Amino acid sequence: MCAECSWQDVLANIEQALEQIPDLPERAEDFANSVDEKLCSIHEWITENEHVTEPQETAVANMIAAIDRWLE
Ligand SMILES: [Zn+2]
Repeated sequence: MCAECSWQDVLANIEQALEQIPDLPERAEDFANSVDEKLCSIHEWITENEHVTEPQETAVANMIAAIDRWLE
């Protein structure tokens, strides 16, 4: 288990974002599907490795910001 990054926080953020995906409007369907797939695969990798890479952390933050924009 890695103590040098915030992988647990990132997992929690991903879980929260996944819960918001069903709230996205119908016109965001393609975006929702692609984000759902990417978030799930990153979640799986972090769970397996108990670590998060910087590019993954950035990708997750960008996807969460994009979800927030849709839900504004
Ligand atoms: Zn780490």
